[in-house]
Amino acid sequence: MTSPQTHYRICPLCEACCGLEVRTEGRKVVAIRGLESDVFSHGFICPKAVALKDLHEDPDRLRQPLVKRDGRHVPVSWDEAFAEIERRLPPILAAHGRDALALTVGNPAAHKAGLLLYFARLARAAGTKNLYSASTLDQMPKHLQAGLMFGTLFSIAVPDIVRTDYMLVLGANPIASNGSLWTVPDFRGKAKALRARGGKLVVIDPRRTETADAADEHHFIRPGTDVHLLAAMLNTLFAEGRVRLGRLEPLVAGLDALQQAVAPFTPERAAARCGIPADTIRTLARELADAERGVVYGRIGTCTQAFGTLSQWLIDALNTVTGHLDEPGGAMFSKAAAFGPNTMGPPGKGRGIITGRHASRVSGAPEVFGELPMVKLAEEIETGGAGQVRALITIASNPVLSAPNGPRLSKALDALDFMVSVDIYLNETSRHADVVLPGVSPLQDGHYDVAFPQMSWRNHARYSAPVFARDEGQPAEWQNLLRLTAILKGLGANADLQALDDELTADDVRKLAGEQTPAVMAAVSRWQGPERLVDLALRAGPYGDRFGLKPDGLNLAKVADAPGGIDLGELQPRLPEMLRTPNGKIELAPAPLLADLPRAVADLDAELDRSGAAPMSIIGRRELRSNNSWMHNLPTLAKGPLRCTLLMHPDDAQRLGLSDGALAEVKRAGRAISAPVAISDAMMRGVVSLPHGWGHHLDGSQLAVAAERPGANLNAVLDESLYDPLSGNAVLSGVAVEVAAAT
Ligand code: SF4
Repeated sequence: MTSPQTHYRICPLCEACCGLEVRTEGRKVVAIRGLESDVFSHGFICPKAVALKDLHEDPDRLRQPLVKRDGRHVPVSWDEAFAEIERRLPPILAAHGRDALALTVGNPAAHKAGLLLYFARLARAAGTKNLYSASTLDQMPKHLQAGLMFGTLFSIAVPDIVRTDYMLVLGANPIASNGSLWTVPDFRGKAKALRARGGKLVVIDPRRTETADAADEHHFIRPGTDVHLLAAMLNTLFAEGRVRLGRLEPLVAGLDALQQAVAPFTPERAAARCGIPADTIRTLARELADAERGVVYGRIGTCTQAFGTLSQWLIDALNTVTGHLDEPGGAMFSKAAAFGPNTMGPPGKGRGIITGRHASRVSGAPEVFGELPMVKLAEEIETGGAGQVRALITIASNPVLSAPNGPRLSKALDALDFMVSVDIYLNETSRHADVVLPGVSPLQDGHYDVAFPQMSWRNHARYSAPVFARDEGQPAEWQNLLRLTAILKGLGANADLQALDDELTADDVRKLAGEQTPAVMAAVSRWQGPERLVDLALRAGPYGDRFGLKPDGLNLAKVADAPGGIDLGELQPRLPEMLRTPNGKIELAPAPLLADLPRAVADLDAELDRSGAAPMSIIGRRELRSNNSWMHNLPTLAKGPLRCTLLMHPDDAQRLGLSDGALAEVKRAGRAISAPVAISDAMMRGVVSLPHGWGHHLDGSQLAVAAERPGANLNAVLDESLYDPLSGNAVLSGVAVEVAAAT
């Protein structure tokens, strides 16, 4: 008999990062529930959390490396797998240069400190310009706007929801997501409290989402036209003399330029394009300005569109000119205990950001934060010549399902000379790999959230120790990335990983600590791998113990000793300290955004096809029981009603001769998918919605539960030629498609 044990774990399944209590007996999970004493989530969980048990026990989850021989994946030892990589990868780089290798990383890596921190090392060792991530399928506009206005990519202002009186939400469904680029477990409870204290929640979305249902007001908007609504709200504020910067006045640059920039966007012109009446636009602007504590929040729908970066800019411009930026109840900046670029270096000023230091070879798309747009990966593989991508390493990444025109990318992957996937599953992307290196179950991994405390509803620090030991012989994921790093550095697959890790860590420390490096390294010597990097970051961070100089400060040992984490308090005003722009100001009118604005002005007067035969516009949607594509393989989440349905307004269904449950075909550019129709007046007329991450019917993957109800892959009909030129983000929302009854 093994006695029951209770463990603490930060849920790795979505950005809300809830604290879980995991009960085990021996090697079995017997219960998962919310941890009441968690300082951040206070016991809240959603239905996904219990599926962690499914993930841990999933027979499809890979436990042994695979090598493709004669077109079939066969299990091999770890040494054999790395020997294969060493045999095949370096010769490609020697013959064709470092850019012949591309790296992709997916969003599950954000929930694994080992992957996230050691991906940076791998990317440095790769020395390639071909770096791609899920950021350009999802969120790069927000990072770019944050960088341009405030100086760093993670200077993301989030709603201080627990103190606000008025919240305007665009293109986001936080009741399903519990925040995105905003870590806010139990959004529903917090929104309810907002309304109970007399506050108002307004939602703008082409679908009356679950969040809209819980709001005071909802307005349909034509997909991809948020830029017009936002600019017209700003136009109203300037026209009516309602701009109030308050204490930010001396900190703001570019107010006049912003006023000029939004001048063409009168409410009447914007109304014709976005579908929200001019009077309503004016009312929204006035309500925001008049609110004592108000905030605008926009997310995925406002990012994954052609004007993604412009929209993010105007959201924070609205927060700023209404006096709500950096104020309690407004849009505030978290102060992360570790890894926050806006807590490092001298306060109040910095280098700002530079983009376009290089460009993609085929289309010339500019680099942003070191990355090229994921939509450009297929053409970089297909197009011959110097710099052609011939080898690929994917880390927790499934772009065949998550990037537009997956069928093209899938074909391109087959043309590679060599491919390695680090993944927990043989999925629609890793099935193409010559070598697959399995990751570990999250329950076998220690974890500290590197990214999410930088945009959390409350400041905190939490660490989860591994619940279970790794399987015998299974390396940690960071060790696998380090071994790949060793191969790329020419040290070979059998390099001394401990020595390499010590050397790379000391190099990082030296940049900050100089001659104090040996003492700092000695101070963190009780930890290894990612934990050592977390300890370093915590101790040097804004609440840190400064390696003993501030005995009351944080270090990893203290955080690890506090099951449920350490509360660091509500969000506090941080301006001007958090700014890292070169002039030490909030840039209200950054030059790259002003230069891009004529594109939106031209779109303002774009002719709308009102013939009734116009193509439909398609948007995605977030489901409570889904996030990443692999969650469709977890029985707890996969059961129940079919979720991959095409939502459609009753009038559109009637016009197209489609009934509830009938199979509809969605077509674009010669590609087609079909999905059952779900008729709903929650949809705006002319807009259909399909959730993302489905399409598990492809040969060669090993996702048995998902394959039973594969669903249709929305991205298979989307268009890789459509992207936001500033951020490189794919356009996944508001793309024109033809919809008809499936034949
Ligand atoms: S909301 Fe997200 S983090 Fe919280 S329990 Fe659900 S999946 Fe986990």
